Amino acid sequence: MELYIAGGVGEHGRNCFYVEGSNSSFLVDCGVLASDLEDPYPRLTQQQIDRIDKVFLTHSHADHTAALPWLYKRGFRGRLIASDETLRQLPFDLSKNISLERICSNGEGFDKDLAIVWGRSGHCPGGVWYRFSEGGKSILFSGDYTEDTQVYVCDRIRGISADVAVIDCAYGKDEVSYDAACNRLISKTKEALTSHGILLFPVPRYGRGLELLKLFSNHLSCVNYFGDEIFLDQVEAAKQETFWTRSVNINVSLQTYSGEERGIVFVSNPQLNAKAARATAQEVLSLGGRAIATGTVEAGSFSATLIAEGNMDVLRYPIHLHYAQYLQLIQKNRFTETIAYHSAEFPQKRDRRSL
Ligand SMILES: [Zn+2]
Ligand SMILES: [Zn+2]
Repeated sequence: MELYIAGGVGEHGRNCFYVEGSNSSFLVDCGVLASDLEDPYPRLTQQQIDRIDKVFLTHSHADHTAALPWLYKRGFRGRLIASDETLRQLPFDLSKNISLERICSNGEGFDKDLAIVWGRSGHCPGGVWYRFSEGGKSILFSGDYTEDTQVYVCDRIRGISADVAVIDCAYGKDEVSYDAACNRLISKTKEALTSHGILLFPVPRYGRGLELLKLFSNHLSCVNYFGDEIFLDQVEAAKQETFWTRSVNINVSLQTYSGEERGIVFVSNPQLNAKAARATAQEVLSLGGRAIATGTVEAGSFSATLIAEGNMDVLRYPIHLHYAQYLQLIQKNRFTETIAYHSAEFPQKRDRRSL
């Protein structure tokens, strides 16, 4: 087995890993680097693309999937393998999709000679980690991973051996604990509600929005909550325990936003680049409100403009690992070599590894 890093190490985005096995080659994720408009795609040669037999996806977020249409345009005709939930969330039609649950029910299975083990990664609905092995060699990909969740289920990576492990380290040396980040988010949100009345939280279509609503519903009282259609649908679906979500009791009423002056508004568009999300943001700001980002803000996005204008704060809700957690995860497993991905703080030393 050989691993080639096509993106995602030494940078935040473009997550893409090419694995060449003895019988077939595959990709894990195929994302874009949103901050590089001139060269956002994975660093794959045409020869590598021609050899790819299948693409495994860890989850649906754009930094892991948005280069798929580019890959198809470059001639990829193989299979796309992901959890049913991830396939459902993908915003484009892709042929030859294969359900991970179908080939690996109960978290284990084979694709030809490739042995696959997977588990839920706690990061978003449909998100998974993988361990692949073939010919006595093995490699683990954590995907975007967190064990600190209130809503999503994480099958903790424990006691697993691998020759190489590619592990989420998105927060790098910023080692604020999960509890400290949540406490800061709660206290700053309370302050902002008192001084601004209405707050806008842009969140991904699938992921931390539900976690935020759960956190606020536990710690803030007498707040009105609003959301767009996608957000309302997710909250409704989360009322019942699913394979991806715990049974969470989010005890708030949620309505569509129509210009109210007090409360918290969720829009399912983290960078506020979509027209409708931008219009909601402008309306909230025109009422004296304030916007709060809880994840990475991409250069060139409308969210970045709001920060530059002084209309948006950034208060992280953690959904990845930082360096200390990355090291803790390594200690709980048996990995010969480890690679920290998803952070600019850990530059790529070599783009090729022979296992
Ligand atoms: Zn993600
Ligand atoms: Zn990611």
